[in-house]
Amino acid sequence: MSANQSTSDTSTTNSRVGALQRISARCRLASSHIVDLICPRICRACDEPLSSRESELCAACAVGLSRVVGGAYCRTCGEDRGPHLLLDGRCSACRVGPGNPRFTAFARVGRYAEPLNALALRFKYDFTLDRLLGTWLATAIAGRSDFDNIELWVPIPAHWRTRLKRGYQRTALLAEFVARHTGRGRVVAALTMTRRVTPFHMRPGLSAAARAAEIRGAFAVRNSSIVKNKSVCLIDDVSTTGATLLEARRVLREAGVRSISAAVVTKTSTIKSGVDPAAAES
Ligand SMILES: [Zn+2]
Ligand SMILES: [Zn+2]
Repeated sequence: MSANQSTSDTSTTNSRVGALQRISARCRLASSHIVDLICPRICRACDEPLSSRESELCAACAVGLSRVVGGAYCRTCGEDRGPHLLLDGRCSACRVGPGNPRFTAFARVGRYAEPLNALALRFKYDFTLDRLLGTWLATAIAGRSDFDNIELWVPIPAHWRTRLKRGYQRTALLAEFVARHTGRGRVVAALTMTRRVTPFHMRPGLSAAARAAEIRGAFAVRNSSIVKNKSVCLIDDVSTTGATLLEARRVLREAGVRSISAAVVTKTSTIKSGVDPAAAES
């Protein structure tokens, strides 16, 4: 066989493979259009129909998400602060306020605003959002070296009646995702809820002092020996003034943990409400 003939055969084979790949791609596209016609996909945040180019969120929600994700916030309490008000990533309250720093490290996906707040609320009834929100939370943590030494991911617990009613616990699902994606630590249900407390973000009129009083004593450590001398990170879906996280921190400290960090999907800002987080929660 001559060299020219061999080159020609290879070229023919390549063009056939290319043609088959193009046909295969068109078939996949056509089948996805057919699936969309039979069972239209909708935006996870607003229920608008999705185009074939959109995966989980519609274009409007994707733009909205880009506005609320990340941003300048304190790396130990999660509060919104302009970059000029942060020193070494910490706000002035965490640097000099009482009980500082608030947490060893604090990570969040974004501010409590559209569409992240809508997704967090839907997560109460739709456990399939765990993959989306869990991946985002894991991504927010994975880029932070101050979370490198976490040994235990501890979900903020729900009351057993709530778990029974829903059939799942949101924070435990998130924690599993975080542990799996970061490859750090393990999930431990170290806390239990001793009485039912309606989530605070459902009651925006409640003062920070009232929240702190209501949540006081609502958590108990299951087994102190599991958390003693460990680096722990609390996992929650929504944090408002932080009263829930701070109460969980209090009981874990009493149990002898070495350090406590926190990671949440979304955090409300106290700047607009004029509430100073240090004054409200210390
Ligand atoms: Zn949408
Ligand atoms: Zn702070």
